[in-house]
Amino acid sequence: MKVRPHILIVGGGYVGLYTAMQLRKRLSRGAADITVVDPQPHMTYQPFLPEAAAGSVEPRHVVVPLRRTLKHCRVITGTVTGVDHAGRVATVEPSEGNPEQIGYDILVMAAGSVVRTLPIPGLADVGIGFKTVGEAILLRNQVLSRLDVAASLTGDDPETAAQRRCALTFTFIGGGYAGIEAFAELEDLARYAVKRYYPTLRTQDMRWVLIEATGRILPEVGVDMGAYTVRELVRRGMDIRLNTRVNSMVGGHVVLSDGDEYDCDTIVWTAGVKANPVLTETDLPLDDKGRLLCTAELQVRGVADAWGAGDCAAVPDLSSKDPDATCGPSAQHAVRQARHLGDNIARVIQGGRATTYKHKYVGSVASLGLYKGVAQVYGVKVKGFPAWFLHRTYHMSRIPTLNRKVRVLADWTLAFLFRRDVISLGQLQHPRAQFERAAR
Ligand SMILES: Cc1cc2nc3c(=O)[nH]c(=O)nc-3n(C[C@H](O)[C@H](O)[C@H](O)COP(=O)(O)OP(=O)(O)OC[C@H]3O[C@@H](n4cnc5c(N)ncnc54)[C@H](O)[C@@H]3O)c2cc1C
Repeated sequence: MKVRPHILIVGGGYVGLYTAMQLRKRLSRGAADITVVDPQPHMTYQPFLPEAAAGSVEPRHVVVPLRRTLKHCRVITGTVTGVDHAGRVATVEPSEGNPEQIGYDILVMAAGSVVRTLPIPGLADVGIGFKTVGEAILLRNQVLSRLDVAASLTGDDPETAAQRRCALTFTFIGGGYAGIEAFAELEDLARYAVKRYYPTLRTQDMRWVLIEATGRILPEVGVDMGAYTVRELVRRGMDIRLNTRVNSMVGGHVVLSDGDEYDCDTIVWTAGVKANPVLTETDLPLDDKGRLLCTAELQVRGVADAWGAGDCAAVPDLSSKDPDATCGPSAQHAVRQARHLGDNIARVIQGGRATTYKHKYVGSVASLGLYKGVAQVYGVKVKGFPAWFLHRTYHMSRIPTLNRKVRVLADWTLAFLFRRDVISLGQLQHPRAQFERAAR
């Protein structure tokens, strides 16, 4: 190992950001050079995306700027398209310009996951994902703009009524916490908006449909709390279809495996994630799910100077009795693994030995709209307002940097004092449209 090794971190999300921060804490600036590569100039605090979509938090405040936070690291805004670890070189494509070859001594793979899709007709054309801050903004504008459209369709003829129904139907596919939180938060926002600002619409005119292929939702909070969530959402008038699949959605015409079909303007796909496919462009070992094979020390199995953690890595779960169990994709593991990874790399550079990562998943908290939530933490089941409060305090303590904590707290306080901001910035979808029309 060089006296001053170059550590290349692929991805500046949870794992990338926290690993870089931990390394900077543990190593002096002369002890190592650190480079973080990410296509985005920021880390996204994904658990706050549903609140950003619902307007309780300003979208800019749920992202953490990498250059500002990682002052003594080199930050490259680009995409790693391949890694030749044997040659210790990665190919990086900047957002503009030619690809660059970047040499390194130590590699950290922290590229996370991507949305897992299925070959459903129409999905690529009409589906919206829910993993980025851009998608959260788009979805908020989409939901509010559909209310505007529906309110302006005032005719009683069958065609206008069908258009109104289509605008007011919102379909979400996938019942994990990302899907359920987005579904519940946006319905809460739409209900709030309809009651106060759309006198020609009634909340019962809206149709919110959740499609889940298995027999339960929110597995992260346990069977009881998942069942409670179903009851709670049904009580709010939402349509939950368990053991149901979407067969087609061409042009927004949804066809379900239970025989139902309907038209709908908004279809959100949140049916799980898979390891980032960039891993297949490396010479590193992968498991059958395409994840990086790692040891409990977070080292890539059988490969020197390569480390991995988070959603893209298969890390043994030492807290489980099953010897083949691996840690699930969650922020809870990602943050802890990242800190452990930073410590381990620092130890090895300083001539020490890496230690094993062990963390027992403590449970999850989920928000179901303003003042509503569900949680199971250390086996304790919580629901309603206490769960929602727990969700807020937990994530407030977790979002990186004091700057972001203060901004999110200010957003919540303002929303409490002045009620939430219900405005669709529909222009953001096509900001140049007006100018293009004028210039033609
Ligand atoms: C809506 C939503 C809500 C969630 N809520 C919770 C929750 O309440 N609790 C919980 O525990 N977990 C939650 N999660 C899951 C949690 O956010 C993830 O498990 C966590 O982000 C994983 O961290 P990571 O660093 O592995 O990946 P990420 O945080 O996704 O970071 C990966 C980074 O790699 C970058 N990248 C991708 N490809 C490349 C490339 N080729 N080159 C360079 N960089 C690349 C990406 O831009 C990204 O910044 C939620 C997820 C979502 C989508």
